[in-house]
Amino acid sequence: MKFSDQILSWYQHNKRELPWRKGTSYQVFLSEVMLQQTQVKTVIPFFHRFLERFPNLSTLANSSLDEVYQVWQGLGYYHRARNMHKTAQIWSALGRDPRNYAEWIALPGVGPYTASILTAILLEHPAAAIDGNIKRILQRYFGLETIKEVKMVAENVLPSKNYGNYTQGLMDLGAMICTPKTPKCSMCPIAEFCKFKQGTWMPSKKAKNLKSVRYGHVYLCKKEDALWSVKNTESKLLKGLWGFPLSDLKEEEQSSYIEVPLTCLKGTVRHVFTHFILELRIWNATSRIEDVTSKWSNGKWLDFQQRKELGFSRLMRKIEEQENIWI
Ligand code: SF4
Repeated sequence: MKFSDQILSWYQHNKRELPWRKGTSYQVFLSEVMLQQTQVKTVIPFFHRFLERFPNLSTLANSSLDEVYQVWQGLGYYHRARNMHKTAQIWSALGRDPRNYAEWIALPGVGPYTASILTAILLEHPAAAIDGNIKRILQRYFGLETIKEVKMVAENVLPSKNYGNYTQGLMDLGAMICTPKTPKCSMCPIAEFCKFKQGTWMPSKKAKNLKSVRYGHVYLCKKEDALWSVKNTESKLLKGLWGFPLSDLKEEEQSSYIEVPLTCLKGTVRHVFTHFILELRIWNATSRIEDVTSKWSNGKWLDFQQRKELGFSRLMRKIEEQENIWI
């Protein structure tokens, strides 16, 4: 049996029941955006929550970005929410679903993987989607090293139809059987000719990708029950989200670099982003209200209720919890 036939046959009997399968194109698109950089089990409750608030494309297109951030809160990587919102407006104005790979990839935040997967699942057109799971299976099975080889093979082994099921079959196999650490080869439908299983191929050892660290300061400034909060409109990091005043970030830790002097150190917080680790010193700047509000003059005083209605990043929520800010 051909490689793709084995995947299709396995998928038919073993597929995962996921809430977006058999969903509308909007629901499938939403799931793919949420699944970028996030695991299925984390995405499911957010997917339901998002659809309760934005059940269709036009509801989303006609909502404000702040409302979208608020519902996205906790899922992280907020550029996805921003792109989702922009896409909804473009898609809604288009008045129909994208009709091919080129139209999918033209939408904000849609890269080659997402465009391929949507083309395969929603349009049933041939498109070789390659994410981490699919790359791992193809590398192990065919004994491939480079991404160039993987892409070439991925295109060559596409079936002649059922592109959506085939792609989802590979995704499920990668998530359930051909897992990164201990693949369950004894349960694998393609074990017979797998080079990794046969012991004729092993992944080459790559140097560990160490993340760099960036440093900065965050200022907590309280007046009665409210904290001075700002919407980040400039820096790319956490753009469009609300949070507490945050300094510029530096590559090196410099204790002399403090924008609001004579404040009192409360603690530090570390947060891991995709490409770097952020370490912030948290300062109590309540005694320096004027310094803070004039430096971050685009902010406003938010009490707990108002804060709940706005999207705060995971980093800022970590600070809130760590410092018991609202107690
Ligand atoms: S036999 Fe093992 S390594 Fe090969 S594809 Fe299946 S699970 Fe992955």
